[in-house]
Amino acid sequence: MSLDSSIERTIKLVTLKNALEYDGKAKLEAVISKTMASRPDLRTNIKVIIPEIKRLLDQVNSLAISEQKTLLQEISPPAVEPEKQVEKFSGLPELHGAELGKVVTRFPPEPNGYPHIGHAKAAIIDEEYAKMYNGKLILRFDDTNPLNERVEYYDAIKEGIEWLGIKPAIIKNTSDDIFILQDYGKKLVTSRGAYVCRCDQKTIQMLRSKGLECACRMDNNSYEQALVEMFAGSFEPNEATIRFRGDMTSLNSAMRDPTLFRIIDGDHPVLGTKVRVYPTYDFAAPLEDSLDGVTHAMRTKEYELRNELYNAVLERLHLRKPVVSEFSRLEFEGLPVSKRRIKPLIENGSLSGWDDPRLPTLIALKRRGFLPEAIRKFVLSLGWTLAEAKPPFESLEAFNRKNLDEHSMRLFFVRDPIELRIKNANPVSVELRNHPSSNLGSRSVRVNDTVYIARSDADRLSEGSTIRLMELYNVKITKVELAQDIGRIYADMISTNLTHSIQKIQWVAYDDKLPYKIIIPKKLFSNDKFNSNSLEIASGYAESFVSNLRLHSSVQFVRYGFCRIDNSQQAVFTHR
Ligand SMILES: [Zn+2]
Repeated sequence: MSLDSSIERTIKLVTLKNALEYDGKAKLEAVISKTMASRPDLRTNIKVIIPEIKRLLDQVNSLAISEQKTLLQEISPPAVEPEKQVEKFSGLPELHGAELGKVVTRFPPEPNGYPHIGHAKAAIIDEEYAKMYNGKLILRFDDTNPLNERVEYYDAIKEGIEWLGIKPAIIKNTSDDIFILQDYGKKLVTSRGAYVCRCDQKTIQMLRSKGLECACRMDNNSYEQALVEMFAGSFEPNEATIRFRGDMTSLNSAMRDPTLFRIIDGDHPVLGTKVRVYPTYDFAAPLEDSLDGVTHAMRTKEYELRNELYNAVLERLHLRKPVVSEFSRLEFEGLPVSKRRIKPLIENGSLSGWDDPRLPTLIALKRRGFLPEAIRKFVLSLGWTLAEAKPPFESLEAFNRKNLDEHSMRLFFVRDPIELRIKNANPVSVELRNHPSSNLGSRSVRVNDTVYIARSDADRLSEGSTIRLMELYNVKITKVELAQDIGRIYADMISTNLTHSIQKIQWVAYDDKLPYKIIIPKKLFSNDKFNSNSLEIASGYAESFVSNLRLHSSVQFVRYGFCRIDNSQQAVFTHR
């Protein structure tokens, strides 16, 4: 068979990405499941598609890694330039079957960590749709695993949502409905739509991979007894689960009798220790959506294979089915959002906490100087389907820069300061404007005969060169004395007239200096490994006026970049 070119392209893309993840050798099973996840329509044709995947996989695996990289660049969609993206608005498509005034969406985070940029995307899309149709948004904490969930995380999510400007009509917990969910689970077992399985995890896994049923599934005599015992507390964790009576031979592994309830001994933040039998996401999500009146349930693409199960669970219980759809997950290159990767770095002290400015958590983005309006605009610019590829972090920066620009004062900071002594300079007071066009006031600075300039500027100076100290006057360099980490430069003041062609540099007056640090977050991961050089500290002098700025306000250090005031001695670098 010959494939249509879009299918072939999808398979090639998936295969190349996988190959580059695994030293040039793509893995068949992974490529099949990823292809099916991105093109579920192919599932009905799987017998024809698999040989084609094999053929393309062999082709890709026979290439050198450098050839694979070139090919990937050729076929993957070109990234939109960040600055252009600011102008572009793709917006959200209409919702299938949506009626004005009747749309109910929900944002269902698990309170098992701090909310990040991926949560922001989901919550913003959920809210935008509710607004678009004059409907309502439910914030539902999906809290059915007491081993992962903590009160701290519920609070962090609520704060993050509030910071983004999202206003849910209802805030609730899945755990509020725990007994209702348990009753539906029991009903499903007694109606033979599910069964109590006493097999251990290893056996379940083995039978699942072979597509075989276990004996518990066929049990016609003691299944009700097992159910009673399970809820009466007769079993230890892992000794019994409730499994959906699915199809062990299904191509969709999510349908191979997935677990719907398991026993967990833990201190739940809301329920305490009174409950031991907890529903899994696969059971709780469809039930809660249906019972809460959700009309449109949106989730990220990695759940796509679970849609069949979502619908099957509701059908078997004769419950209303919401419309389910997927959007791509948002994550930046080199900035994973997964708790599995972030938590260990916090625990071993590589990161200072969930608000470490290198993280893509909302609390860290806020600390770094990102504005919620910029995040919203950025998310909406991605639209619905675009960007299976990770957008560059610079795209978000471009939106933020646009929002920060007119509200941020322009002040001077010199990194690794070098003294500049100006002969024949008369002491002057200069009035410096805090912004070139916005009405942000001015400040007065007294200059005697010495200022500080940045080491990077000093390094470029030589005897005889002329520079302009911004908003002050021009000087001609007479002597440069620079050693490894110390130095002094001598100059003559030559003119107060602005000459356009000479280099203009920022400065800090000798008597106006405030020792200051700027924390510069870099890519947290490079080549999939923790980047131990991901935090740079720039030390230098800022103008003393910086201490008048409100804590957490944004400032633009001229020729340096936007920063957010972190405390009286330091700022966090936002972006250039
Ligand atoms: Zn079993």
